[in-house]
Amino acid sequence: MKKIPDKNGRFGIYGGKFAPETLMAPIEQLQNAYFTIGKSSEFKKELNYYLKFYAGRPTPLYFAKDFSQYIGCHVYLKREDLAFTGSHKINNTLGQVLLAKKMGKTRIIAEKGAGEHGVATAAAAALFKLECEIYMGEVDVQRQSLNVYRMKLLGAKVNCVKSGSKTLKDAINEALRDWISSFKTTHYVIGSVVGFHPFPVMVRDFQSVIGRETKKQILKAEKRLPDYLVACVGGGSNSLGLFHPFYNYKNVKFIGVEAAGKGLDTDYHSATLCKGSPGILHGSFSYILQDNDGQIHPTHSISAGLDYPGTGPEHSFYKDSGRAEYHAMTDQQVLNAFHLLSELEGIIPALESAHAVSYLIENKKRFNPDDIIVVCLSGRGDKDVGEVARIEGVSL
Ligand SMILES: *Cc1c(COP(=O)(O)O)cnc(C)c1O
Repeated sequence: MKKIPDKNGRFGIYGGKFAPETLMAPIEQLQNAYFTIGKSSEFKKELNYYLKFYAGRPTPLYFAKDFSQYIGCHVYLKREDLAFTGSHKINNTLGQVLLAKKMGKTRIIAEKGAGEHGVATAAAAALFKLECEIYMGEVDVQRQSLNVYRMKLLGAKVNCVKSGSKTLKDAINEALRDWISSFKTTHYVIGSVVGFHPFPVMVRDFQSVIGRETKKQILKAEKRLPDYLVACVGGGSNSLGLFHPFYNYKNVKFIGVEAAGKGLDTDYHSATLCKGSPGILHGSFSYILQDNDGQIHPTHSISAGLDYPGTGPEHSFYKDSGRAEYHAMTDQQVLNAFHLLSELEGIIPALESAHAVSYLIENKKRFNPDDIIVVCLSGRGDKDVGEVARIEGVSL
């Protein structure tokens, strides 16, 4: 079998390195470091130590008994919500920040929209004693004062970006500008399987701990591999983390679930793989949401972590080759899943993760009683409780 990606970071026709000349030096340096230091057994041993004793891995693979009965087959939840800082993001930030330290970097930068990436980066930087600055749009700073304070508690400096729409994409632009002038001392931690090579493969590898653990755990519990793996897709890192270690097991079907927002026939969704077309965004060729002139289309989702107009190139490759199928669930269907899982299992899922749960609820008839399904519960819902109360008109 051909290796994906190839040495140029191509997943079939997707991926690559569409970066300005000024970024080629840091990108090559990172690529060399990742494929030497990052692949060494000492590095892996040290990272595994922190994944275990700092982040709390392995996370449980939990048999959701009542939810299984409701769906009519065997449903297991991979509990990334129980990883430290509340989502799978920590798997990647520990890996990248440790690598940066080994490269002799003294400073970390990252951008933060609204997911958990900023806090997970600040935590890893505090742990490994690197300076940390997080770029965040002014609109997001105002919307998330508690998260801003959390990052500051962890010793990070939060830079409020006042340009453009003052949200995630402007924060990314500022972080890239910083990196161009600071890469000798600084590593830029990207939070998903997006961006130029080597980020998509590196982040996938760091997140693959999810799938490797799942394989062992399901073999122990059921004595066979699952029939379906289901995960939400924003940039695509928790899904690839679960899927990738099963890539060669063709009987294990992959289902990625995007955000249909207010509906796929409206302008208010983030369903890049379901509704987008190939183009270039943030240094990589992949499906993106764009208009006829190639301008990036605004996105919407009830869950901030899925609200992104691009997706990882490996997903685009899986889509075209048929290795995975992609669906999208609406905000309303997701809210329903959020409540149902909370009531049936006593587990409040992140709104992102509730997209994956919702696919099962709306497609119950597809599954047979003997089917085994693993759902990636990418994060905990505590961060979303206030927002759900607001949407549903509950006064707190
Ligand atoms: C960031 C985030 C996501 C979406 O990112 P992926 O890279 O697609 O995994 C999903 N769930 C949670 C809880 C997140 O914080």
